[in-house]
Amino acid sequence: MTLTEEQRQIRDTVRRFVEREVMPYEPVLIRREIEGGGASPGLTDGERRDLQEKGRAIGFWGIDLPAAYGGADLDPVTLAIIHEELGRTIVDFDFGGSVLPALFSCNEAQKERYLLPTINGERISSIAITEPGSGSDAMGMRTTAIRDGDSWVINGEKCWITRGDTADYAILFARTPQEGPRGGITCFLVDRAAGYTSAPIALMGSRDKVGSIHFADVRVPLDAVLGEVNKGFEHAMPFIYRNRGFILSAKNLGAMARMIEMAIDWARQRTVFGKKLAERENIAFAIAECEIELRAAKLLVHSAAARAAAGADYRHEACATKVFVARAANAVADRALQIHGALGYAKESVIERWYRDLRVERIYDGSDEINLASLARNLFKGHAKAGDALV
Ligand SMILES: Cc1cc2nc3c(=O)[nH]c(=O)nc-3n(C[C@H](O)[C@H](O)[C@H](O)COP(=O)(O)OP(=O)(O)OC[C@H]3O[C@@H](n4cnc5c(N)ncnc54)[C@H](O)[C@@H]3O)c2cc1C
Repeated sequence: MTLTEEQRQIRDTVRRFVEREVMPYEPVLIRREIEGGGASPGLTDGERRDLQEKGRAIGFWGIDLPAAYGGADLDPVTLAIIHEELGRTIVDFDFGGSVLPALFSCNEAQKERYLLPTINGERISSIAITEPGSGSDAMGMRTTAIRDGDSWVINGEKCWITRGDTADYAILFARTPQEGPRGGITCFLVDRAAGYTSAPIALMGSRDKVGSIHFADVRVPLDAVLGEVNKGFEHAMPFIYRNRGFILSAKNLGAMARMIEMAIDWARQRTVFGKKLAERENIAFAIAECEIELRAAKLLVHSAAARAAAGADYRHEACATKVFVARAANAVADRALQIHGALGYAKESVIERWYRDLRVERIYDGSDEINLASLARNLFKGHAKAGDALV
């Protein structure tokens, strides 16, 4: 795993940007959470836009956007490197000009109404799959869209939807039982103005903002379908595998690296019973364990990214990466907190924040159990060979 000169420069530039522009928001967000009595607002839209404009000024905009839309269309390995750097802060920041990949299936009219304004940051989207009765078992969803004259009529409930309570529109997955002999799941673009209602859901972590969305006889035009009727899930999976393999998992590498650095600094400074923590073997070994996990995690992310960059099927790799990295990041947060003692447990500490924020990594975009089930299925069915990694 050798970085090219260009990748090295990109890494260094993003690291400087994160340190100079993004990390200064850490104490601001921590204060905001403490003073908000547990409310966890994260960056305001204005702060996020401001940071994105600063990122844009140094060339970081649309990093994964196809060149046809003015984006940089960077390869998965370079994206992983950038996300690792963005992950070094608790601030919930991403460069602007990126959209959920499902939107590239928009037809020409939908592009004008959804894709382009979303790229430009003028409209905010959510992706709504999960329901109170179906999470991992997404195919069990019960929200329906029924054709009635020149409309679809949507009824149902979605929950845990990122930006669900604030987005301008939802990329909605609904059952279309009357379409064809067996029906299926179809993807729709549904404006908030069409009449759905939403409510925020408070979480343990403070990075993600989720909401529930309620559809009661919400009418959308027939051309609100994204892609083809009954083929909705084709739009969801590429996004999920990217996250598992080299986007979210890469961000967790950055969090792990920074927490290990903080644990080393603290172990060097703090004296207990006349000796530095760093001189205590149990503390030193805990840091060494973190180092092994970070190195292994990094190889997995880069292996998934390299396979994706080569145009190969990386889904098996992505599942393995997601489980290992999410567990390792949580283990590192736990050890880093322990090494800091009460200081790590204080709200003022970024480690306290990561300790809460990272827990969800084992739940969303495919929980540990769902990824383990996929891995086992691939091995038993012969879709993947044991240990057949690219690097
Ligand atoms: C912060 C956050 C953001 C989210 N954002 C979105 C979003 O933008 N859009 C969206 O649609 N959804 C979103 N989700 C929902 C997320 O995708 C679901 O939480 C996830 O799919 C798990 O579903 P569930 O929570 O209903 O758990 P369940 O599916 O009910 O699972 C409960 C437990 O059982 C385990 N389990 C499930 N099936 C099996 C099995 N076959 N064998 C063994 N164990 C099993 C699971 O791993 C889990 O541990 C988000 C969730 C969170 C927390």
